[in-house]
Amino acid sequence: MSNGNTKREMSVRMYRPGLGDCFLLSLPKAAGEAPFRMLIDCGGFSSTDEELKSVVRDIATETENYIDVVIATHEHWDHISGFLQAGQEFDSIEFGTVWTSWTEEPGNTAARVLKDRFKKAKKAVEAAITKLPDDTAESRLGMYRKPITELFGFFGGLGAGARNKTDRAWERYLNRSKKKLYCRPKAAPIALDDLPDVRFYVLGPPEDPDFIKRKLSKVETYDEGKHAFAAFVGFTAAFAENGNSDELELKERSHPFDPRFRVLPNDAKSNPFFASHYGFATKDNNRWRRIDHDWLAQAGELALHLDSYTNNTCFALAVELGVEGKVLLFPGDAQVGNWLSWSDLTWEVEGRNGQAKSITIDDLLARTVLYKVGHHGSHNATLRAKGLEKMTSDDLVAMIPVHRSTAKRQSWPFPYPTLWERLREKCRGRVLLADSSSFKEINKDLQNSLTNKELEAFKSKTTHTKLYTEYRIEF
Ligand SMILES: [Zn+2]
Repeated sequence: MSNGNTKREMSVRMYRPGLGDCFLLSLPKAAGEAPFRMLIDCGGFSSTDEELKSVVRDIATETENYIDVVIATHEHWDHISGFLQAGQEFDSIEFGTVWTSWTEEPGNTAARVLKDRFKKAKKAVEAAITKLPDDTAESRLGMYRKPITELFGFFGGLGAGARNKTDRAWERYLNRSKKKLYCRPKAAPIALDDLPDVRFYVLGPPEDPDFIKRKLSKVETYDEGKHAFAAFVGFTAAFAENGNSDELELKERSHPFDPRFRVLPNDAKSNPFFASHYGFATKDNNRWRRIDHDWLAQAGELALHLDSYTNNTCFALAVELGVEGKVLLFPGDAQVGNWLSWSDLTWEVEGRNGQAKSITIDDLLARTVLYKVGHHGSHNATLRAKGLEKMTSDDLVAMIPVHRSTAKRQSWPFPYPTLWERLREKCRGRVLLADSSSFKEINKDLQNSLTNKELEAFKSKTTHTKLYTEYRIEF
């Protein structure tokens, strides 16, 4: 590995696709060659086609229609919608290699089990939502419909059409290049001939299913709210249409009462006693006596659970600039389980002076100078003690791909207040937001903790345009 003394510069362009992620990294190759380009995600939660198209047109111009490596971190609409919404614009760009995680590798049994389980659970939530009454008489249940439907916005919406949309966007990303690299965290860091002193450490998704299942933990994250998660296996099974015998048994066991105590809604309707006392007409005062829909409320919790689950399958990446040099952290929307699994990893590499060196996540976090904040700054996608607190570099800068007005419309507190506070402290104000083109986020107090030289250096390395905020790093 070369260890030249000449300073070079790379850039990270955070686009403004709305509430979503789209990052273009440009790294210097040898003199006279075009920079190496890496695209990480391209999507927006409720963005228009035009918003994505103008972003992708800019990417085409900037990259001269060639991107060396394209990564989509996970199958959420706000990270991949661009591959469909700006499909034509993307068609003009050649993808060198598609990097994706082991979960996409054909013939990987663990990956297939993971995907099957997820698909079943997703179908169960969708089925539950269509059964949820939305009239005011049962508003205690109808109230779940809105949040669940919104949450499903991350999967591109509800129903078969929406499911196809997300699947299609994912397919378009995955199949754009015949050259694919299936990445796994336990492998050696990726080194490329074009970039002799840059290494790519694949952090996640974890191959241990226990980590993928792990989700919210108040101690480990910035969570302050109340979250309760029940067992969902029976719930999922209850919607098994024609499952195997195990599933059908589970479906039977998921009922709260034995068959002899059950009265199914249709039987009750035609029974004079139930018909007169349990309110089957739309505006009947006796409706409250019925509990036939109450169990469906679990759909809300399951929907949240599915959201965490997908986020934990995120392709998480650390880019090391120079041998034992600065690090850029791109965790996608990884949640607790994904972050925690990084502690189990050790990479044996060639260190400074050609000596063997073991690299751990703590080394990488301590050298992190750019943190792409997970999940638009939500409470559950930045690990506290084992994450942000270990990012101790004086040069730490954070980028938050957030669109606050869109998040506010959904009543999502992005960026989450306590995390936002701590990010600004750790970065001493140098936090860049995708929906802002100014430095006004660096408030007076924090600005004073930066020296004038540091503040000027930061400003001189940052460019805001209508479409993106770019930050340049020397190494
Ligand atoms: Zn996201």
